[in-house]
Amino acid sequence: MRAGYVSLPKSIGSATRSTPFSRTLFRTSVLPQASATKLARLPTSAAPPESKALPRSTSQSLAPVVSDDLPVISTDGRKVAIGWDTRTWSRFHNVWLRDHCRCPQCFHPITKQRLVNTFEIPSDIAPSEVESTAEGLKVSWPSSQPHTSLYPWSWLQHNSYDPALRQRETQLDKILWSSKIQASPPTVTYEEAMAEDDRGLHKWLSHVDHFGMCFISGVPATPEATEELSQRIGFIRETQYGKFWDFTSDLAKGDTAYTTLALGAHTDNTYFTDPCGLQLFHLLSHTEGSGGSTLLVDGFYVASILKELHPDAYNVLARTPVPAHAAGETSALYQPFPSSGYPVLSHDPVTGELIQVRWNNDDRSVMNNLNSHQVEEWYNAIRIWHKLLTSADSEYWVQLGPGTAVIVDNHRILHGRSAFTGKRRMCGAYIGVDEYRSKLAVLREKFSSDNEVADRSVWSPAL
Ligand SMILES: [Zn+2]
Repeated sequence: MRAGYVSLPKSIGSATRSTPFSRTLFRTSVLPQASATKLARLPTSAAPPESKALPRSTSQSLAPVVSDDLPVISTDGRKVAIGWDTRTWSRFHNVWLRDHCRCPQCFHPITKQRLVNTFEIPSDIAPSEVESTAEGLKVSWPSSQPHTSLYPWSWLQHNSYDPALRQRETQLDKILWSSKIQASPPTVTYEEAMAEDDRGLHKWLSHVDHFGMCFISGVPATPEATEELSQRIGFIRETQYGKFWDFTSDLAKGDTAYTTLALGAHTDNTYFTDPCGLQLFHLLSHTEGSGGSTLLVDGFYVASILKELHPDAYNVLARTPVPAHAAGETSALYQPFPSSGYPVLSHDPVTGELIQVRWNNDDRSVMNNLNSHQVEEWYNAIRIWHKLLTSADSEYWVQLGPGTAVIVDNHRILHGRSAFTGKRRMCGAYIGVDEYRSKLAVLREKFSSDNEVADRSVWSPAL
């Protein structure tokens, strides 16, 4: 195993995670009551020192605000500056603060929707008074529109943009895995997943979030039970293949999935603008034959190796849009919009993190958007990508049987199967990425120890 990658697993629980920092910083800053306040009356010329955006590692030293050491505040006419410690300042524009007031007149406490009329805020609005209190930053707005706003310190730290102090959470909990995961793959039982208190569902979806996949053992080998299991997460996403699918190798749909042929590692729906988020499948029976092992590959793991060993190839896959189609049924002709397609590797435009792998070489359309000099580099890049995807280190092969379902994050995990003989009956479902993320977010609220998160207060970090 290469240095820098998570070796899996001695036991999954001991696998390294990127960093626990931001969770503790912003979830433990409960403010004790205190009478001490620091008052800053306008006008003031005390401008904060120009601090550069802090490197993320430095921000780890930022301690939660405690009452006997309230942040120092100062204003310069356009912004309010908050000194968290002697080195760390956050600056907030006046108009930004007024727009983000979350008192009940400005933000509906139930619907969590903005009520303040952003466009009635004078562009030159400035506080008449700012105050550092135990509860947070208190801002009084001038008498033409008299109003007082109170912003909790933890909320200001979380949402600090000048400089950004929080570590984005999207990739923090991802555990990249190789074929070694076979020793102890993430699994929940059917009873856990179906239990009414939702703790098992939380465990299940947390595994999916961390590993991009999870097995479910002890599932009754029926389409009904499997459909019910799928619906624990959210609406099943209906596609041209139906809603909940239950099929054999009879070419009932014009797609290789409905044959006995081997399928290389791929993600589904590369021909959709919005590929499905999760895919659950369950082999209900396999009679009169053999073969048909399931192949799982962590696309994020393989991408991390590609990035390290072949950065040029990585960049080609990150910037080249790939057209695709689903055209095996005369009644349907799917292409992503725009039809030039999307790159194999998509990144968060703000953080630059890898967020999605789209790869199905079988469904790729004509590559007619390449410049002459890009053709050979494109084929070189996908040749390297294919080689890494199909290496013994990447490929996790598992023989599924009735009773064990598997769910994969279709934006991260590639799946495939070996050829088989005989009759296989497979059932399963797609679940939209937004339904899955919404359910996971709700379960995190439900089992959070942070009151602002658990009660979905107007100061929840998600809003
Ligand atoms: Zn308000």
